[in-house]
Order: sequence, then structure tokens, then C-alpha cells
Amino acid sequence: MRIRDDVLRFPAYRGNESTARINLDKNESPWDLPHELKEEIAREIKKIEFNRYPHIHSRPLRENIAETYGLSFKNVAVGNGCDELLGYLVKLFTGNYVIIAPPTFSMYALYARFHGIPMREIPLRRDFTIDGEKMAKEANNAAAVFIASPNNPTGNTQPEDEIAKILDTGAPVILDEAYWEFAGKSLINLLHEYPNLIIVRTFSKAFGLAAIRAGYMLASEEIVDALHRIKVPYGMNALSMMVASKLLEHKELVMRRVRYIIAERERIYRKMGRYAYPSQANFLLIKLDAYDFLMRRGIAVKRLEGRLRGHIRVTVGRREENNMLLLALKEFQEARNCG
Ligand code: PMP
Repeated sequence: MRIRDDVLRFPAYRGNESTARINLDKNESPWDLPHELKEEIAREIKKIEFNRYPHIHSRPLRENIAETYGLSFKNVAVGNGCDELLGYLVKLFTGNYVIIAPPTFSMYALYARFHGIPMREIPLRRDFTIDGEKMAKEANNAAAVFIASPNNPTGNTQPEDEIAKILDTGAPVILDEAYWEFAGKSLINLLHEYPNLIIVRTFSKAFGLAAIRAGYMLASEEIVDALHRIKVPYGMNALSMMVASKLLEHKELVMRRVRYIIAERERIYRKMGRYAYPSQANFLLIKLDAYDFLMRRGIAVKRLEGRLRGHIRVTVGRREENNMLLLALKEFQEARNCG
């Protein structure tokens, strides 16, 4: 037996072993579900027949998502987190390479590498917007173009006219809207106009369901049908489907929490002054090399590399967590100025 060398060259994922008291590193929601809602979910779990397979293509959850966003279930696919869907999307279409716009979400490049698909990188401009013209020029031979809006880790949304330039080429555009609720804007309305637009979203962020691993994709019937041909059958378990569906019935709770996070994000932005970049997501990019300093104080954030070396990405937490973060960052700046 020998494990493939290219597999061993992949980074080993590090999970939740952080011992930090305050976790602002994974863009999670800072709140668990309210107790009463968990009780309701517990009652629903008892109704599930554990001996039966769930729907082969997860139709119950797809129908609920479709109804929420005014589409047909035939335009919706679901996966174990949108990460699973992204993994399929890199290999669904013909083309010579995939296009990504770094700095962006690392999984696009990782999946492309894993499937042996070459990558063409067209870096974000200085203001972190995509260069739609350059990307469109390369798009004709591309198997997919990945765009995150709001982008992780920079936090900005991408201009619609730049995205439209790429959509106009007809190449598959995978628009990752994992954080769209915090921006309050989406390109969902363009789905009817562009059959090559694929929107990917998640229950892990605004819905606060990172533990149950549920993501979804909105696209043409043709693309959804093709995806189901290669997707693991019975891929989404009945418990996760039920919990995600339940949260769709509690949109007011989700939106209340989103408003809180937005208000806190803007407060952090104002307090951090020129060290923070504007954000439309549930995190902020901060121009301070404070990772180790914060870690020693029990605050976990994300340390960035490459072009964003010397920056950190901080998730917006609860008010008291954000206060601790702001205090620690102030101490960091003071220590640095004195040193
Ligand atoms: N897209 C982006 C831009 C993300 O930041 C993340 C999570 N960090 C994901 C997708 C994956 O989300 P999920 O939990 O649904 O796999």
C-alpha cells in the first residue's frame, strides 16, 4: 500500500483545537440557537424514522429553500456545507482551467489542486475589487470562474457591472454568497437572465448553523440536474435537513442577529480607524500583525498570508467579545508605539 504523494502534499486541516476563550477566527455566529428553538428541534428529531434513508436528492430542504427565495426546487441543490458543493463545481464543466481572484477563500484553489485542474489567478485590484475585464478575457476557456461576494478575507462585495462582464462571456460563474445576508444584497435576480450563473450560499454564517453542515446552490435546472448525477446519493442527512428547514421558519430571529452583527461591525470599524477596511460581511480585515499578541490574551483570530501578510481577519462577535478585542488591539498598538 502506498498513499499518493500528491495527497500527502496537501495541508492537514486543523480543527477546533484552539484553547482560546474568544473565538473570532472562523466567521461563525456568536450565538447558539435559543433554548426554546432547540426544544422544538428535539421534538422534531423524535419524529424522524432513523431506519429510513432520507430523500435521495434532499428534496424536502430544497423545496423549503426554493419557497423562501421564490424559485423552484429544481433550481436548488444542497450539500454538507457549501464546501461540498464547491468541490463538485470545480469539476462539473468542461474547460482548461479555473479562474480565481486572490486574495480570496482558500478552498477554491484547494479543490482545483485536488482534482488536478490548473488554475489561473487574476488578483484583486488594490481596492480588492475584481478586474472583470481581465477575468472575462480568460473566461472563454475556463471550466469555472470563482468569485466571492462579500469576499473572504477582504470583506468587500464585488461590483455587479464587473461580474456582469464575466457572465456575458457565457462561462460558468460561481458566485459565493456565503455572507450575503450581512451585505443585504445578492445577485439572485440575475439567475433568470444568466443560465451560467451559479450562486452558492450557506447556513453556517447568518443562520448560525456551522455545526450541522448545510449549504445550498441556486442555478439553472440543467446545472442542478448535472450536479445530482455526480453527487453522493442520500448525501444530506435527515437531521441536518430538518434543522436547516426549521431555521428558514425563523427568519426574523436570523435577521435580528444579522442586524446586531452589522451594528457591531460598524462600531469596530469606526474604533479601528485607518487600521480597518470597510466590510459588508460578519468579519473585518485589520491591518495589524496582532495574531500572537491576541492569542496570548485568549483571543483567536485568523492570521493572513501572502499579499495580506501582517493583516488579521477578525470575526464580529458579541458586544462583550468585541470590547475585549478592541481593548487588546489598543494595548497592542500602545505596546508597539512604546517599543
Ligand atoms: N465560502 C466562503 C467565502 C466561506 O468563507 C466559507 C466558510 N468559511 C464557505 C464558503 C464554506 O461554508 P460552509 O460552512 O457552508 O462549508
